[in-house]
Amino acid sequence: MSKLITFYRVLPGCEEGSPEAWRAFLGFYTPMAMDFLRVYTNWDSDACLAAWREALGDLSANQCAELKAFPHQAEREFLVALRAFLQDRAAPRLKARQDAATPPAPTREALMTLLSGLPIVHQEIAFLTLAGYSQKTLEKTLPATPKVAGEVLARLRAGYAAALERTEDQCLWPFAWVGMCVAARADSSKDCTPLRQLIRILDGQATWYEKSPVEEHRTKCLHCLELWTSLMEVVAWDRTRQPWPEEKIEPLLAAVSVRKEKPKPSLFARMLGK
Ligand SMILES: [Zn+2]
Repeated sequence: MSKLITFYRVLPGCEEGSPEAWRAFLGFYTPMAMDFLRVYTNWDSDACLAAWREALGDLSANQCAELKAFPHQAEREFLVALRAFLQDRAAPRLKARQDAATPPAPTREALMTLLSGLPIVHQEIAFLTLAGYSQKTLEKTLPATPKVAGEVLARLRAGYAAALERTEDQCLWPFAWVGMCVAARADSSKDCTPLRQLIRILDGQATWYEKSPVEEHRTKCLHCLELWTSLMEVVAWDRTRQPWPEEKIEPLLAAVSVRKEKPKPSLFARMLGK
């Protein structure tokens, strides 16, 4: 079965309570949820798994009311929404004392100053570096590698050398950074670009006339930069996706509401027309 068909079948199947659809959902998306939770929260893997189980319970509660609100037309839109959902849920549980004291977390103003005047790809590198990604990961995530981005590296080195030198993917300031992302998502204007349009641009389906004002706007808008870089993250994740091990799926299935699998009627029962 192709991935495309699978995505289209998985969400409606989960919403009907199909155990098979939930097994597919857990197999596909648990690794991504765990990766994002680890990068953004700094929790250990048990705590990340507990947060994911709880999120699954809420997604499936009340006949999957929350899951039904997610985009169903394109998997990348769904993944961006899932990432935001996990961050939104983690935000109130993060503590300021988790954040590194030196260098202090960038405020929104400090971030906008750091990004100011940089070309768009350099802004993406700066944003994702501060978000928690190592330069090694970013080389795989972004089309332009950090090696070519001399000026942005110099600016990061001046204020945030610790973020630049880190080799593992982990945010230095889970509380402050996730809080800023949540605020940026809520802070959109009429000039902001819908995710679907960003995906068209990423796929090379937009003309220069469509793309140019969108990119110009994005160099000054944290809402759009956050949305665009989250798209980069899910696309990079999708390229390297590995399914969650089958033996670990069954314990997670207990976290969601599934209908009971009917045992196949015996031949005798079928002969009796039962
Ligand atoms: Zn915007």
